[in-house]
Amino acid sequence: MRELKDLSGVIGLATWDQETYLPPRAVAARAGQLGTLQSIHHQRLTDPALGRLLDEARGKELSTDAQAMLRALSWERDRAVKTPAALVRALAEAQSNGVEAWREARKAKSFSRFAPALERLLALRREQADALGYEADRYDALLEAYEPGMRVARLEPVLGALKEKLVPRVKRWAEVTQRQSDPLTGRRFSGDAQWAFTLKLLEDMGFDLEAGRQDRSTHPFTGSTHPTDVRLTTRVDEEDPFSTFSSTVHEGGHGLYEQGFSPEDYGTPLAAAPSMGLHESQSRLWENCVGRHRGFWAHYHPLLSKLFPEAMAGVEPEALYRKVNRVEPSLIRVEADEVTYNLHIILRFELERKLLSGELPIAELPIEWDRRMAELLGIRPENDVQGVLQDIHWAWGELGYFPTYALGNLYAATLFRSIQEGISSLDAELERGNFRVVTEWLRARIHRPGFRLYAEDRVRAATGRGLNDADFIGYLDAKYGALYGSASAS
Ligand code: ZN
Repeated sequence: MRELKDLSGVIGLATWDQETYLPPRAVAARAGQLGTLQSIHHQRLTDPALGRLLDEARGKELSTDAQAMLRALSWERDRAVKTPAALVRALAEAQSNGVEAWREARKAKSFSRFAPALERLLALRREQADALGYEADRYDALLEAYEPGMRVARLEPVLGALKEKLVPRVKRWAEVTQRQSDPLTGRRFSGDAQWAFTLKLLEDMGFDLEAGRQDRSTHPFTGSTHPTDVRLTTRVDEEDPFSTFSSTVHEGGHGLYEQGFSPEDYGTPLAAAPSMGLHESQSRLWENCVGRHRGFWAHYHPLLSKLFPEAMAGVEPEALYRKVNRVEPSLIRVEADEVTYNLHIILRFELERKLLSGELPIAELPIEWDRRMAELLGIRPENDVQGVLQDIHWAWGELGYFPTYALGNLYAATLFRSIQEGISSLDAELERGNFRVVTEWLRARIHRPGFRLYAEDRVRAATGRGLNDADFIGYLDAKYGALYGSASAS
């Protein structure tokens, strides 16, 4: 177990370096190095000797923790063993063709250049799903890679109900937002001061900068080599400091999770998140529930005024709060606010299910994308780059990944509801900048337990409630209802 963890850690480090400091001429060499490490990891994982050890362990009386380790490691190994080597190679080739075709299609602003590569990826994903096996739905086999234990039958009704409730709310709140001006537009925030502020944010959240660091990258991400070495990245934009701040808080939420596993679990599969969705719940809880809270901006207003005296001139705390809580339907998912975001995900989830089943012919994908965008958010892309070609996920043939973002938002709302109920002074604590109360709550109930339970069971153990849309809708109604009026009144 420790060797596998060490190998993954070094792969994580080399990948982080690739996205941050790698000199341009080393790109090909690094790809080769990573390929070698990944194949060693694969050999270790699929080694028949490991299979024999796991079988032997299965026949023994084991502690609850040992059973959880056995389950996690067997899960990972089974998926690797069941995917034939020829399929792994074919997928790798189709992925690199996919990304290349996707880039060319984006340049030409035309989906049709990407269509053949996507067709090939879909065929291979169907083959992979069949090799892995599933009970009810082929999509389940792919979803399982990111969200162990989750099934379409559980997820679909929740996202369906969420969609029905979101559409009228977006419409109402966006109309009111549009009538309110944003006094911060056009102001410049110095990049150096932004950087200093992001480090202060991380420190205040309880991220240990002696056990991790923050660097710059084009696309912010969190990489982990070990719980004592967690690498965050962010992007600084002088005209859009709030995207810098929210990306730091988002990655900081991921980073706290990675730093928060129990030291006695280090080197075992227990020192891990049970799913991508639960990981995302940590980043979204910090980014949205805390980082877009009125108390958060009241607390930082004096410091921001000191760091950015010109840009902040005449700006009240309430203006900051309103700035980060505007509801504005946009074409691009990564720029979406917390109210519209899930609709971007639901659109992708519904489309990729139809693509996988073959119900939706690939050629019709862009038309269907644009039609649904208009239906859900009331706006239409002008070209495929603003529409179906915006995300890289399908270029990698990653199906089943998008729903983890929505799961993250829903789990975050459920966790935050329990934090609010459990800490009666929460609003005052946030206004005082005492964010550690949130960190400690999460540490005890989510971070330290690691991968002992599936994601939904972990959330239920922490809050008494499983996956649901009501907590998220309740959270939105309380906040945006107060800002922009109740969604039922028109
Ligand atoms: Zn994230």
